[in-house]
Amino acid sequence: MDPILNFIDGHFVAPIEGAYLDNYCPRDGLVMGKIPDSSAADIDAAVAAAKRAFPKWKKLTRSERSDFLYRIADLIEAKIDLFAETESRDQGKPIHLARSVDIPRVIDNFRFFAGAVLHQQEKAFQSSELVLNYTRRDPMGVAGLISPWNLPLYLLTWKIAPALATGNTVVAKPSELTSMTAALLATVMVEAGLPPGVCNLVFGRGQTAGDALVGHRDVPLISFTGGTETAAAIGRRAAPLYKKMSLELGGKNPAVIFADCDLDVAVNTTLRSSFTNQGEICLCTSRLLIEDSIFEKFTGLLVDKVKALKVGDPRKADSFMGPLVSREHRDKVAGFVERAKAQGLKVLCGGESLKLSGELDGGYYYAPTILSAPDTSAEIMQQEVFGPVVTVTPFKNYEDAIAKANSTRYGLATTVWTQNLNTAHAAAADIDAGLVWINTWMLRDLRTPFGGVKDSGVGREGGDYSLEFYTEEKNICLQLAPAKA
Ligand code: NAD
Repeated sequence: MDPILNFIDGHFVAPIEGAYLDNYCPRDGLVMGKIPDSSAADIDAAVAAAKRAFPKWKKLTRSERSDFLYRIADLIEAKIDLFAETESRDQGKPIHLARSVDIPRVIDNFRFFAGAVLHQQEKAFQSSELVLNYTRRDPMGVAGLISPWNLPLYLLTWKIAPALATGNTVVAKPSELTSMTAALLATVMVEAGLPPGVCNLVFGRGQTAGDALVGHRDVPLISFTGGTETAAAIGRRAAPLYKKMSLELGGKNPAVIFADCDLDVAVNTTLRSSFTNQGEICLCTSRLLIEDSIFEKFTGLLVDKVKALKVGDPRKADSFMGPLVSREHRDKVAGFVERAKAQGLKVLCGGESLKLSGELDGGYYYAPTILSAPDTSAEIMQQEVFGPVVTVTPFKNYEDAIAKANSTRYGLATTVWTQNLNTAHAAAADIDAGLVWINTWMLRDLRTPFGGVKDSGVGREGGDYSLEFYTEEKNICLQLAPAKA
């Protein structure tokens, strides 16, 4: 089994100190390869390469950079099955999900920003007859990009594509749990003829490679997606160096389900929003707040559907859920549920690890779980579980629903279920969240602002928001002379 190698200055290179980490396959728990356990020296080499590549890359025209992005998208599309199988093998998600959601979105990320950068506009301010202000939006240099394991290539390319499109060069560190599709992306970048040093990938742990990237003096901006506590550590490191930061963090997303909702659609979508990707999406709903009068009915319908969900081999088309990403993460999820049980919360379905038979018996499977949680202060109602576990809690009226929805430190996303337009508008305004879905979930338009409030993040990604984040705006004030008579 050949180890994955870092991709620096257009070359695949071993980590300088020669250290590697075992890479485990979630579906069977076996070691399937090795990834570099990179050190600060590897980050230094990658940043130096990116810095050397920057002056030429930024001088390309927008359409020249855009052409590279389109080429990368086309090459990934041509290998979509390989990318989907690899993502599933590394992360645990069903192949059909990677094939229908993750990898198409990777392709869209490149195509979207390849197009968006051609339409980016600068501003002009005519201050008086003879004074004109106008702005430039220049790339900032070497972009430091750090991504998590749940939607590995989807979230990594959501950063790489706008960073490159706007003329920055990149040093990216994917999650140490899911490096394989990023390594495949490097091969595509070579095929696409991307100039050496423009995009570098350094694999390894957050506390070492990630920390060195965040603290590097030649990296003026950090885009991070991951946990709220990690972001605090990154902020402590990056703030004294005056870096521009975008932080996309954890959530504890409520679904607020009013009695006048379309019950069938609400139940079916809540099933998806709770358990898609094993509940390992930052946007997954985790607290179901249900109006008293439909609480029993809604919960009963949902529990029946959850019991019928198939957890199984991620290679099989009928597996709705695969394993969780790692043994540690599965144990963390199980720990939350065990403590909830000890606190007296009732398990309505699931609530245990699953042991599958044969070659899958070492995999990290966990049953989709619903807990009844009358009290919003319970640990499981406050902490992000990031797995296939949701709570159901009744509410009395609108005010009670909003108070319960807002009763955590998080504010990433919410779904609201009602057929009353007034209730929908009011709830969208009153719930603390960066993203509100009404009668739907995870419907995305890549132009819209994406990000959280409270402890769920700082800044927005998407469309113009990303183009602005990856560029620095400069104002130029021009004094003109009066025309000679
Ligand atoms: P994590 O914070 O443990 O790790 C994320 C990345 O940060 C990894 O690449 C890791 O190696 C790196 N890292 C860890 N410590 C670091 C440090 N000190 N310095 C620099 N880098 C460091 O998160 P995770 O477990 O990989 O992902 C799960 C979390 O991500 C959840 O909280 C989830 O909600 C969040 N998430 C948020 C979004 C969003 O868009 N808001 C999307 C997906 C996931």
